[in-house]
Amino acid sequence: MPAPLQGAERLKCGMRTPSAMGATRIDGKACGATLEASLESRIAALATRPHLAVVIVGNDPASRVYVGAKERACKRLGIRSTRVDLAEDAAYTEVVATVEALNADPEVHGILVQSPLPSGMDEIAITDLINPKKDVDGFQAQNLGRLVQGDTSGLLPCTPAGVMHMLDWAGVNLAGRRVVVIGRSRIVGMPLALLLAQKGVDATVSIVHSRTPDIADVCREADILIAAVGRAEMVTAEWVKLGATVIDVGVNRVEDDSERGYRLAGDVHPSVAGVAAAISPVPGGVGPMTIAMLMANTVRAAEMQK
Ligand code: NAP
Repeated sequence: MPAPLQGAERLKCGMRTPSAMGATRIDGKACGATLEASLESRIAALATRPHLAVVIVGNDPASRVYVGAKERACKRLGIRSTRVDLAEDAAYTEVVATVEALNADPEVHGILVQSPLPSGMDEIAITDLINPKKDVDGFQAQNLGRLVQGDTSGLLPCTPAGVMHMLDWAGVNLAGRRVVVIGRSRIVGMPLALLLAQKGVDATVSIVHSRTPDIADVCREADILIAAVGRAEMVTAEWVKLGATVIDVGVNRVEDDSERGYRLAGDVHPSVAGVAAAISPVPGGVGPMTIAMLMANTVRAAEMQK
């Protein structure tokens, strides 16, 4: 049985710092900044600046925050960004026409339709309309399908690809290790499990979900535990093997007495820091990696279309 991640492996990543309770903190902000810096020369080598178009339908406050962060990242890197705002009650045909116009525009290299769309609007059907070469979210059927075929050379979903990059940056060895992914969504859990299981990465992957009995027992077997659930602090110390690496994808709003009325919490309880060898924080973990990967995909899309 593979040994849990310990001393030497933890120390491979010089940029991690110990958290208050002992686990090393896997700093997504620092990792994302390194990734973004590596894009600068590729952007400079392009004849025209990469151009990302973000379509946002309605007024979901969290979506506005996420889109703002994406626009700021574009600005940091000199990537052109255009936001297309559609009303909450926009017709399905209007969203379709918007995506088709962006597909046809040679000046647009990347298209992202911000999730969630208003209820009743078929998000998968809209995503599948995006030209696969411009699908910087990596959710279009051709791009996801290539992943199932074992081809990771296309545009990969940003959050799963960000987690993979972060694990690599942190020096976490995956080959032959037992990884448990909590969550099987099209956006995070499922594509992440595929990336982890691909040839050359060679992790042994289990996916657990809301119908999994004895979920804590399965999680306790993990050398690397990845939580992508959307339930605040669900994963407690009792779920985690001593010395495991824990990646917390969750972003949850928990009401509190602060001025804004809530705090952000991951899917992982703070007590896990007392058991794990390394852990990614929320905020400052997977979130910045998702943004950095979106920038990387936009640059890649521009390179593919030049
Ligand atoms: P999702 O589509 O709602 O999927 C959640 C998954 O968790 C489902 O597979 C569900 O199982 C499973 N689940 C729900 N309750 C469970 C329980 N009690 N026990 C075990 N499994 C359970 O969510 P998502 O889009 O994957 O996002 C997951 C979390 O990641 C959210 O907090 C989201 O905000 C966050 N997120 C963060 C980033 C980032 O950049 N940091 C990006 C994307 C998402 P079933 O399939 O059986 O329903």
